[in-house]
Amino acid sequence: MVRPLSRRNFMQGMSSLLALPLLRIKEPETILYNGNIWTLDETQPRAQAVAISGARFVAVGSNAEVLRLASGRTRKIDLASNTVLPGFNDAHAHPVASGVEHLRRVACDTDSIDKIKTALHERALKTPPGEWVLGFLYDDGKTPRPISRHDLDEAVPDHPVLVQHRGGHTAFVNSLALQLARVNDQTPDPAGGRFEHDAEGHLTGFVGDAGAQAFLKLIPNKSTREDYRQGAALISKLFASKGVTSACDADASPEDVQGYQDARDAGELTMRVYCHVSAASLDHFMDAGIHTGFGDEWVRIGGVKQYVDGSISERTAWLSQPYVGIPNNYVGLQLSSREQLYETGRKAHAAGWQLATHANGDLAIDRILGVYEQIQKELPKKDARFRIEHCTLLTDSLIQRMRALQVIPVPFSCYVYFHGDVMHFYGQERTQHMFPMRSFLDAGLRPTDSSDYTASPSDPMMWLQSQLTRTDMKGNVWGANQKITLPEAIRCGTINGAYAAFEEDLKGSIQPGQLADLVVLAQDPFKADPSELRKIFVERTMVGGSWKYES
Ligand SMILES: [Zn+2]
Repeated sequence: MVRPLSRRNFMQGMSSLLALPLLRIKEPETILYNGNIWTLDETQPRAQAVAISGARFVAVGSNAEVLRLASGRTRKIDLASNTVLPGFNDAHAHPVASGVEHLRRVACDTDSIDKIKTALHERALKTPPGEWVLGFLYDDGKTPRPISRHDLDEAVPDHPVLVQHRGGHTAFVNSLALQLARVNDQTPDPAGGRFEHDAEGHLTGFVGDAGAQAFLKLIPNKSTREDYRQGAALISKLFASKGVTSACDADASPEDVQGYQDARDAGELTMRVYCHVSAASLDHFMDAGIHTGFGDEWVRIGGVKQYVDGSISERTAWLSQPYVGIPNNYVGLQLSSREQLYETGRKAHAAGWQLATHANGDLAIDRILGVYEQIQKELPKKDARFRIEHCTLLTDSLIQRMRALQVIPVPFSCYVYFHGDVMHFYGQERTQHMFPMRSFLDAGLRPTDSSDYTASPSDPMMWLQSQLTRTDMKGNVWGANQKITLPEAIRCGTINGAYAAFEEDLKGSIQPGQLADLVVLAQDPFKADPSELRKIFVERTMVGGSWKYES
C-alpha cells in the first residue's frame, strides 16, 4: 500500500522549516523503483519504490503505486532489485578533527612497525627543523609489539615525534619530545594520566590521557579555517562511502562547528552533523544564547560533552576490578571529579543543553549516573535524553538505574570485531557485560551505533557483523550472550541514532515526511552469512534526495 503523507508526518513537516506542499506528491522530483527496500516503518516494513520531493520522501510503496505519481519531469531510477536501508547514523565520532588529521598527519594504520618508521622518516625529511612530526591512527594491538621511543628515535632523531593511538587518549613519543615536555624517568604521573616505564624504570614513550596532554599542549595548532572546511568535506565523503548519512561530532570546538558550516555552504558536506560541544567551549556557546537543537537538519548543535574516564582500547577506562595482566592492581584513570561533572552538567541542563558524558568503565558509569540522577531530581526535565557516550562496562543494577532515567547508551559498535586484540585485558567473564546490546535492548533502552572514529572504522556493515557475531578478526568470541538480531542492529544504527539527537521525526526510517537519506547495498544483508556482513559494499548513498556517493 502506498503511504502518502500522513497527518502526523504532515504536521511534523509543518513544525520543521519547510511545510511540504501536498501538491508535490503528484510531481515527485525523483522516484527510485525496483528496490528491495527495508523501511524500518512498522506500518509498512517493506517496499519497492519511493518518491522524493523537496529532499524528503513523499510516498513509499510498490512499483505500481509509486510510479503512477511520476510526471514528465520526474527523474526515475531503477534500483535493479538492490537492497535499500535508511542511511546510517554514526552517533559518536570525531569527523572534523580526524579530517584535519587526514590532511596533516602520517597515517599509521598498518601492522608493520618498519612501515610506520619509514613513513615518519619520510615526513621528517620534509618537516622544518624543530617542528613536530605527527602520526595518527596507530593501534598497538595491531603491531607485533607496541612501538617504542627507541623506534621513534631511530626513525626521527632530530624532530619531536608524537604518534597518537587511534583511540585518541594515548600516544607514543620519542626522546626529543620527552625532553621538550621535561618528562624523565623520575617524573611522577600527573593526576588522571600516566607515563609508562619498562621493567628497569625507563620511560617507554607510551603516555596516557593527562600524560599525553603534557605533550599535546606543546604542539601549536596551525590549522586554518580552510583546513577545518577541507577536513569536514574529506571525512564526510569517507563516511558517506560507507553508508553513513548522519554523524554526531562528540567533541566539537567552535572552529569545528564552523568547519561543518563552511563545508555545507561550499556544497561539500555529504552527511548531516549533530555537534556536541566540548565543556571547554560551553560558555562561548551559552554567551551566544545557543543551546541543544540550534541549527538545521545539516548542522545542528547537540549536547555538552564531558569525560569521566579514559578509553577501552587504550586500557585507561576506570574499572571496579583490575585489568587482567597489568601489574599493581591497575584500574584505569578518572578524568573528572564528581563536582566538576555536576557543576558543568547542572549549569548546562538548566540552560537547555542535553548532557552527553564519556564513561566507559563501571565506576565511571556509576559516577555519571549519580550526577544525572541528582540533576534530574533538582531540575526535573521532561524528555531530557541524557546520554552516556561509550557506556561500555555495565552491571545489572547500573542498567536498572539507566532504565529509571531513560538514559541513552551510545556504545561502540565494532569493538568486538575490530579491537578483539585488547579484550584479554578485560577477560572473558567481563566481556559478557561490555557493549551489552542484548541487555540494553531487553531493558527497553535505545542504544545507538557508533565508531568513535578514529577509534574504529565508521563502517556500518562491520558494526552489524560485530553485533550479530560478537566475534573478533581472529575468530575469538567475546560475550556471546550479548548478540542481537539484524533488524535490531539496523534500528540501533538508524532510528536510535536519530532519537539520541531528538531527530527521530526527521530521519532514521524510510517513510513519507522523513528526509530522503538512504543507502543502496550490493547485497541483501538478510540473505548474507552474519560473519561475512562486513564484505557487503555500499553502491550508493543518498542524502536529502541527491546521491552523495556512487561506487
Ligand atoms: Zn569520542
